[in-house]
Amino acid sequence: MVEQTTVREAPQRPWHACSSEEALTALDSSPRGLAEAEAAARLRSHGANRLAPPRPVSPLLRFLRQFDNVLIYVLLASAVTSVLLGHYVDATVILAVTVLNALVGFIQEGKAESALAAIRNMLSPHALVYRDGHRREIAAEALVPGDVVLLSSGDKVPADLRLLHVKNLRVQEAALTGEAEAVDKHAAAIEAAATLGDRSCMAYSGTLIATGQAAGLVIATGTHTEIGRISTLLARVGSTTTPLLEQINRFGRWLTLLILAIAAATFAVGALWRGYALSDMFMAAVGLAVAAIPEGLPAIMSITFALGMQRMAAHHAIVRRMPAVETLGSVTVICSDKTGTLTQNAMTVKSLSADGLQARVDGVGYAPQGAIVGDDGQPLAASAQSTLQQLARIAELCNDAQLRERDGAWQVEGDPTEGALLCLARKAGLDTASERSAWPRLDSIPFESEHRYMATLHASPHGGAEIYVKGAPEAVLAMCASQRRADGDSGVLDAAVWQAHIDALAARGQRVLALARCALAEVPQVLTPAQLHGCLQLVGLLGIMDPPRPEAMAAVQRCQSAGVRVKMITGDHAATACAIAHELGIGRNGRVLSGAEIETLDEAALRAQVREVDVYARASPEHKLRLVSALQAEGEVVAMTGDGVNDAPALKRADVGVAMGDKGTEAAKEAAAVVLADDNFATIARAVEEGRTIYDNLKKAIVFSLPTNGAQACVILAAILFGVSLPITPVQILWVNMVVAVALSLALAFEPAEADVMSRPPRRRDAALIDGFLAWRVALVSVVQTIGCLLLYLNETAAGVAPEAARTLAVNSLVVGQIFYLFNSRYTIAPSSGWAGLTGNRVALLGVGTLLLLQLAFTYAPPMQALLGTAALGLREWLMAIGVGFSVYVVVELEKWTLRRRLARHAA
Ligand code: ADP
Ligand code: MG
Repeated sequence: MVEQTTVREAPQRPWHACSSEEALTALDSSPRGLAEAEAAARLRSHGANRLAPPRPVSPLLRFLRQFDNVLIYVLLASAVTSVLLGHYVDATVILAVTVLNALVGFIQEGKAESALAAIRNMLSPHALVYRDGHRREIAAEALVPGDVVLLSSGDKVPADLRLLHVKNLRVQEAALTGEAEAVDKHAAAIEAAATLGDRSCMAYSGTLIATGQAAGLVIATGTHTEIGRISTLLARVGSTTTPLLEQINRFGRWLTLLILAIAAATFAVGALWRGYALSDMFMAAVGLAVAAIPEGLPAIMSITFALGMQRMAAHHAIVRRMPAVETLGSVTVICSDKTGTLTQNAMTVKSLSADGLQARVDGVGYAPQGAIVGDDGQPLAASAQSTLQQLARIAELCNDAQLRERDGAWQVEGDPTEGALLCLARKAGLDTASERSAWPRLDSIPFESEHRYMATLHASPHGGAEIYVKGAPEAVLAMCASQRRADGDSGVLDAAVWQAHIDALAARGQRVLALARCALAEVPQVLTPAQLHGCLQLVGLLGIMDPPRPEAMAAVQRCQSAGVRVKMITGDHAATACAIAHELGIGRNGRVLSGAEIETLDEAALRAQVREVDVYARASPEHKLRLVSALQAEGEVVAMTGDGVNDAPALKRADVGVAMGDKGTEAAKEAAAVVLADDNFATIARAVEEGRTIYDNLKKAIVFSLPTNGAQACVILAAILFGVSLPITPVQILWVNMVVAVALSLALAFEPAEADVMSRPPRRRDAALIDGFLAWRVALVSVVQTIGCLLLYLNETAAGVAPEAARTLAVNSLVVGQIFYLFNSRYTIAPSSGWAGLTGNRVALLGVGTLLLLQLAFTYAPPMQALLGTAALGLREWLMAIGVGFSVYVVVELEKWTLRRRLARHAA
């Protein structure tokens, strides 16, 4: 039988004017959501919950766009003039080259775009829903009308929802209404005429939960949502340009104009002063312009960026904003969260501390096996058992997580801290299901990193109600008036004794949680923070282990040797933070600054502190923002991690905001420039390394390709000035530029990191891309190439060789020189010798192979000879070309050698 899947028509009234019951009925759903099978059927009929991707620009248009470029205009104008002057072959070749150039640009742009699209897909969000009556985390794309979605602060609303329950819900609807201020939401129906911004019982797709929690019924998905209606384009990854790329493009445009001016001047000089024929001089000027303009460069820059981003993504760092690639390379300080980033976020309760109960808990991970024994290793006394049961009940019930066994491995769904508590409760013998049904939860105050506790209200099976609280000891102790005594009765709170216990646990590097309760005779309607103050009875403390990630230790060290300071910012206790920082090698001076201390400092005092202190404890998101600002005021380039909704301002403010991909909220991801797919500190360190490598490779590509332009331009200028025939013709120059750019320059984008990337200090953010040293290198190579090329050409023509053959040799000497120079360029200062220097970059070898084949065709294929005016060469000529090329290699290696000696002497 075919399942009946059609959802009844939407009600007569708009959704916001229906009661939640009416909405549920209309969509054949219930507060416990849909059945899995029904959801699957609806997914088939409604389609996936995603917005139509932006309509791609048609390939033809993309191809034509490649011609919109000053150089191409110059080339096209030259082609037209060449036709007028009767140089048909030149005109054809120039046209062919413009088409080829456009084609290369087209393909490279396509590659960069698809790399970005793949990265975009890595950021697809999830949604927490009820399916078959259970909470499930599913891909947001799988939502269907009728699903019941659970939301909490920091979530992005995944579809249009009619709210069913809300708790302190405020939603930031800027994506939809442009209104930055978050608005309050309720579940009650409102009048039908209300405008979008006033529909307080609705939450719309694409908006962000600023605070609170909610359950909502999905009423529209995908393109049927409000956001889907106003726009189908939601760019998740920002633009594909960066300040650096723009700088290079601007530089390219100026260079082009300058070169055109020089070409025009040369034309004038040659024609008027030297008395050359106008048409010859014109072709020479065209040759000069074509030779000197680095037309391939912008494409090579973009592809280097795109490849680097792809490599970062492969290593779990997803770049959302391309300029971050650049900034990552110049980061001087990384401020990292502790829990889950520097530590494993694999929590295990290790110690218990209460009046009459000092115990240690055995077992590893979340497997609920392990004995609870006294600190002395003896079984617990009977009196201690009842305190343990009370602790376990609070741990169990003041908890939103779930433990699940999958293939023999125990995993947490939800907060790992809470998973550890569930595990403890089971070790103490409690049964989750029966506890939760005996003590139904009536209300709760969720954990937020500002107030650092969580509270729940339960109906007691003995009548009345109980409030259970767990949280950071300072937060909980401040609300306690009494404590549970070993005999089970209530006693006066002895704050000093508890403080000593807290310090002892924290000094072992354990996260400390305090558990408290309060019995109420009357069952209140709701739970508010005000009710807790002064009414709580402290039951005990838990010490939770969260070991550092081993790879984070190594990464911290690498950062430090790279001149990047690592600072740890945590909500944890100062002593815990200190112990973990010590293990990780952060903040060797042992100094800690707490959130409370930060509050007492003004701007200037904080700036003085951030120079010294590397560990910040009990810090809240607001403090993060102040820390970023203070560090930036000190001239640092700051990468800051964050996961919560309140971290968004600090993430935006930081030079590189880094959000956690796994435990982070959508709000944090949206504010960040980089998302860590694995939440791992080591990934940030890698991304910094990759950022430095990309920058290096950009430099290498520029310094490699400019001498081709420089040498050819010099050869032509020299020929005109000395009155000899052109050693290379304009079409041959176009050929050289094309093949060198395509086959060789691109190879440098694949260059792996140099050995010293993480042992040199960060690059200054305002450092010029091409500094004096690199300009010198470009000039040096250009001159060596020019001399070699001219000498060979003059030598050949003097010996009476036909100009075609002499030119072919000149061109081949330039190309062979570039091949040798490619290997020089693999390392800027380090020697390029030995096996690694030769074979370390496979793409380079492939490029060289391709280029040699192209040059053989250039030299020997008759159609090429006819088109490009070339002639076959003998072995002697090839040896001469190789000789010139090798001289380039030797000169550059010698230059590097003297430079290394100078640097060594400086260092000494
Ligand atoms: P971190 O910077 O380590 O992520 P958090 O802000 O998550 O710090 O936690 C700060 C403190 O709040 C912890 O030391 C712990 O005492 C307490 N805490 C953490 N998670 C919870 C929770 N789910 N419920 C109650 N208290 C918590
Ligand atoms: Mg945390």
